[in-house]
Amino acid sequence: MENEHIRCLIIGSGPAGLTAAIYASRANLGPVLYEGITPGGQLTQTGDVENFPGYPDGVSGIDMMNDLRRQAERFGAEIRFGVATAVDFSRRPFRITIDDSKTIEAESVIIATGATAKYLGLESEQHFRGSGVSACATCDGFFYRGQDVAVVGGGDTACEDAAYLASICRKVYMVVRKPHLRASKAMQSKVAATPNIEILFEHVTAEVLGDQNGVNGLMLIDKDGQRLQIGVTGLFVAVGHTPNTELFRNYLDRDPQGYLRTHPDSTRTNIEGVFAAGDVRDPHFRQAVVAAASGCMAALECERYLLLQQ
Ligand SMILES: Cc1cc2nc3c(=O)[nH]c(=O)nc-3n(C[C@H](O)[C@H](O)[C@H](O)COP(=O)(O)OP(=O)(O)OC[C@H]3O[C@@H](n4cnc5c(N)ncnc54)[C@H](O)[C@@H]3O)c2cc1C
Repeated sequence: MENEHIRCLIIGSGPAGLTAAIYASRANLGPVLYEGITPGGQLTQTGDVENFPGYPDGVSGIDMMNDLRRQAERFGAEIRFGVATAVDFSRRPFRITIDDSKTIEAESVIIATGATAKYLGLESEQHFRGSGVSACATCDGFFYRGQDVAVVGGGDTACEDAAYLASICRKVYMVVRKPHLRASKAMQSKVAATPNIEILFEHVTAEVLGDQNGVNGLMLIDKDGQRLQIGVTGLFVAVGHTPNTELFRNYLDRDPQGYLRTHPDSTRTNIEGVFAAGDVRDPHFRQAVVAAASGCMAALECERYLLLQQ
């Protein structure tokens, strides 16, 4: 197997990984970044991004990530196509296998592998992703102001999404599979006290309806098999995220949902020299600007770590 020794390896090419690459290359750490199967990360799978500072007219997710990539390359970051398929953090230098065929020996590692939003798994849901179906109410809710929308899910995130959407949309349906909400009492009370939220308990989404203009309704089925059609222009899926951390499970501390644990106000993990940035360590905010900020933190902490190793 081919071997290569580097100072700083970055795994992941979303806003966290590329921001880490900008800072690490400007600090002469000679970063090598592996992009994974989604070059540019989650934002390349959405339409316009309107809340990232510095783009007053909004920007397409793809253009924004191309900008970030070019910025990192301008300072010498080496960005490569490839997937980290195994890691050995038991000794230094750390060993990371790429595409099962190449081993990188790295003095430090920044993990920025993100989190993957879960969807319901319907063909029609897949068809309308980006034209009415979204997994991020904070990101896309604004596009539906004054309209009727639905949120699927019964946990805290679903309730928070519904409450947020209720403040900008005309009506919000919550489609909940169980006869009750799983959310905290406080969130349940918030939802119950919001007049333009209607909860449809014991309903599941059978099909997302729409045409060339996007989503225009949902076909629901209740526990007795009765069908109910509701008219909505947006469907927000809030059934959770899967942090991409399986690869690290033997070495790094994770929370019960699988997010990497880092020291307070830091991107340091339980292994010195291994840092985590972005959604992979963030069950709360999951926003590009927050991911970018933690990519910056990871690179600065990595720089300090490498300095002390010399
Ligand atoms: C539909 C949707 C719309 C959104 N809209 C907005 C918005 O408008 N504004 C906003 O601020 N946020 C938005 N977000 C959230 C935003 O996309 C995320 O917060 C942000 O992308 C997280 O960045 P990240 O770098 O942590 O991870 P990600 O963007 O998830 O990137 C993870 C990267 O890791 C790589 N990777 C994973 N595993 C491996 C591996 N084994 N080896 C190598 N690479 C690997 C992937 O290929 C990918 O490049 C949206 C999210 C979704 C789902």
